[in-house]
Amino acid sequence: MHIRRNDVVVIRKAITGCKDTSRRPVGQESKGSRGRVLKVLTDKNQVIVEGVNYKYRHVRPSQKNPQGGRMTREAPVHVSNVMLFCDKCQKGVNVRIERVPKDAASGATTHNVLRYCKVCGELVGVQD
Ligand SMILES: [Zn+2]
Repeated sequence: MHIRRNDVVVIRKAITGCKDTSRRPVGQESKGSRGRVLKVLTDKNQVIVEGVNYKYRHVRPSQKNPQGGRMTREAPVHVSNVMLFCDKCQKGVNVRIERVPKDAASGATTHNVLRYCKVCGELVGVQD
């Protein structure tokens, strides 16, 4: 997957059925909004993006939450609907992936995966 935790991503498609906090018209919800990736669900190819795709969750009263009621939480979004944000281009971009061996001298098999913006060629996203 080309998205990592703490990456800044842009939503490229409207997510219907979410509670949009920016009050955009229905159907345009979340399209073009930007957020930080909180979690990557590799097995489902989904990511949870901060502030995007809010869903209501009805919770029973519990000790921690004696009132119960409706809570809003971010629901996961499929990775195909997000693009990595490039600081230089100020928009979501496609990325070119380059694999660089971590330690070339010892013939190690581990690689650093570097992601470059396809438009301007800058390194994008968080580095490890
Ligand atoms: Zn760029």
